[in-house]
Amino acid sequence: MNLLESCLLLVLVRGFCFAKTSIRVAHYGEDVSTSINWNVLYENIGKDFDLLPPETRIINKRDFLSTTRMLYDSMSQDGKLVAVLGTASVIASSNLESVCSHLCLPYVTVKKRSKNLHSSTFSLYPDSGLLSKAQATIIKSFDWDGFILLYEEDDGLLNLQEVLKLQNYNKDKPKNNILIKQLDPGWDNREVLKSLKNSTIRRIILDCNVERISEILMQAEEVDILSDFSTSIFLTSLDAHTIDFTFLNTLSNITTIRLFNPNEPSFQYRVLAYYPDITPNQIKLETALLHDAMLLIAMLINTVNGDIINQKNYCNSTKKFDQSLELAHKIRISIHDGLTGSQIDLHSGRRNRFNLEIIEVNKPHKPIATWNSKFPDTINLKRNATEREAELQRRLSSHNFIVTSRIGGPYLYQSKEPDAIGNARYYGYSMDLLKEIAILMNISYEFRITEGNLYPNLASDLVERRADLAICDFTITPQRQEIIDFSMPFMNLGIGILHKVSDEIEVDNLYGFLKPLSWAVWFYIWTLNLIISLVMFFVARLAPGEWKSPKPWDPNVKELENIWDIKNFLWLTLGSITTQGCDILPKAPSTRIISAFWWFFSLIISSSYIANMAAFLTMSKNVETIDNVEELGKQSKVKYGLVEGASTAAFFSTSNNSLYQKMWNNMKNEKPSVFEKDNANGVERVLSTKNSLYAFFMESTGIEYELERKCNLRKIGNLLDSKSYGIGMPMNADYRDSINAAVLTLQENGRLGELKEKWWKLERHGNPCPPVVQPSDALSLGNVGGVFIVLVVGIAFAYCLAALQFLWNVRRVSVEEKIPYAETLKAELRFACNIFLKKKAVKSNKSEKSSPN
Ligand code: GLU
Repeated sequence: MNLLESCLLLVLVRGFCFAKTSIRVAHYGEDVSTSINWNVLYENIGKDFDLLPPETRIINKRDFLSTTRMLYDSMSQDGKLVAVLGTASVIASSNLESVCSHLCLPYVTVKKRSKNLHSSTFSLYPDSGLLSKAQATIIKSFDWDGFILLYEEDDGLLNLQEVLKLQNYNKDKPKNNILIKQLDPGWDNREVLKSLKNSTIRRIILDCNVERISEILMQAEEVDILSDFSTSIFLTSLDAHTIDFTFLNTLSNITTIRLFNPNEPSFQYRVLAYYPDITPNQIKLETALLHDAMLLIAMLINTVNGDIINQKNYCNSTKKFDQSLELAHKIRISIHDGLTGSQIDLHSGRRNRFNLEIIEVNKPHKPIATWNSKFPDTINLKRNATEREAELQRRLSSHNFIVTSRIGGPYLYQSKEPDAIGNARYYGYSMDLLKEIAILMNISYEFRITEGNLYPNLASDLVERRADLAICDFTITPQRQEIIDFSMPFMNLGIGILHKVSDEIEVDNLYGFLKPLSWAVWFYIWTLNLIISLVMFFVARLAPGEWKSPKPWDPNVKELENIWDIKNFLWLTLGSITTQGCDILPKAPSTRIISAFWWFFSLIISSSYIANMAAFLTMSKNVETIDNVEELGKQSKVKYGLVEGASTAAFFSTSNNSLYQKMWNNMKNEKPSVFEKDNANGVERVLSTKNSLYAFFMESTGIEYELERKCNLRKIGNLLDSKSYGIGMPMNADYRDSINAAVLTLQENGRLGELKEKWWKLERHGNPCPPVVQPSDALSLGNVGGVFIVLVVGIAFAYCLAALQFLWNVRRVSVEEKIPYAETLKAELRFACNIFLKKKAVKSNKSEKSSPN
């Protein structure tokens, strides 16, 4: 007896012994490729049933009529069909399901369902409403401000309704950006991905068939989206865990969800038993669901279909719904030891009890969190804070941070070493600050200078992901905060006004009173004064009108007298030029003519001097009296400017203050432009503009730095606002918290202060300035001090002359009276010091008595 004959005999014997009910299960699908292991059904079906070989029918999505006929034929063939297993899509199976419902035939499907189910349909695929809720909860837990939803089919978008509602979720944030884009049906999605690159959002939800995921990610890598540390991708496919992602070279965070854990021993055991050709982590969701569908069908047949079969109420039944099946639909039915859960509950035919695991694709062994349908609004984190930090640290350490910056002291200088490479090409405050942060965060970095060394390009570098950090005098502004993130501030400042100390008073000049006339003019005036005196002396000796009688009342006087000697003329010319006049005046016409011309000359010179002096003082006053921004705004003589396209310009252009608006309009319309490319150019312009006619709006930190080095600069008035510098980062960068923690540490341990001291004061590249003397409006000692000095010198000179005359007189008396010189000196000194003696005896006065002859 061969094997076949023995099997037949066994079946016959069994058939006689136990009257088994023959039953059949049909599989309706759109293709034959579905791998179903019917053994699961055979092994779980009750002993009372004899399962006939299952039939597989391929249905056409568009041909409802033939699908219906196929089912009726199958039913009427032998009346043994007890359940239908459906793997067709919703559209293709809708007709089938309604017929099954009409015939009270259980229809078990493994496809995603969104609509209401027929009364005899049982779906093992997680309920789409709940699944959408789960995805929304998970995305909410990621704390994303915005995301891009890349979807493949409209159906997928419908299933993500809850996720789309997240737009209204975060009420305290100005806006939660959600960008929705459909994937190209073709294989090339590079264009779509490139368009994402230009957006500030780097959180992507990819909703597509598992077969397309690898190809799309590869294209994302090609267009440089995945090179970005801050990019996060969430894959909605429940099969994404079956992909081997090692082909991707990325630091981006890719997460997905799965319905079962392929690493669980019980799962692996069942897979080994029923699907030995597939490794557990390659088991697709559909395979697992089909496995569980077998269990469900077996359970339905064992418990419910017995009744149906006994009642024989198939096509010809007048009853619409079988009581038992209806009941099964209403109560919660559970299957045990499925591949997609140890206990699978179905209520109203839906699978609305299930768990999800959230995994990072590069670490699939350990889920980062789980979601449970019992608490749909929460997720349970599976990694504690330390583990999460360790994971982030691992990612940070393996990334070389690109730091965008700009050259500008004291933040960053270009090294003078011609052979310097890498970061050694630069040094300065920013470099030191990042060095400290890098030590704290254990990261490596590379400085790059932004294009054109321009401030606006720093933000673009971050938005377009050319850099991970931006560090320099990078001001935190509301406009920038819309497109990038900032660390907590590392320096506080405000807008100030930089101006040059007036040229006229820039040096504290004691001889300022000489300034109205040039040195040549002074020389000519005094030389002329001497020459005129000499000329007049000779003219006066010749002029008869200048010879007068010493005793006009005495007609017998023998001699005439001429009062004009050189001394008197010098006195006269000096009295004229200083507009003081003189006690003696010339009498002769010739000397009077010369005097008249000299007076005219003196008039012109002294008026010019006074006018020039007044002009000098007025000009100093004009510039010096700009003491605040209001005064600067009111006048038009001194122009003012700022760095073009940077935060100070943004402050003025967006200000509601009428003064600042007016100043901004003035600045915009000024020709030539008052804007500068950077602070260094602004400072240079302030210094080089004559008569201090240019002021520059600059941040106080920069002003502080310049005042330390350029002594003829000053700061005008108070600060216009108050803001800070921060380290720029792409929006929602994963390392934001780590950078903040590092900045905080540096602030707390005083390192920030030390660095500022180092680069502002110690590393000065020059000599310190003396303390700035604030000039005042009044004529200061600085201006008139020289006059005092002249007076003191004059007094000293006169005193010396008097002393010499005194000594000469002592000598004359000692010779005439024949008394020793020392004794005479003692007696004369005693007499001079005795201030109460008013009379002096005439000792000898030959000289006084002698005639001019
Ligand atoms: N620190 C400014 C910025 O970040 C540039 C200088 C300025 O605007 O005064 O834009």
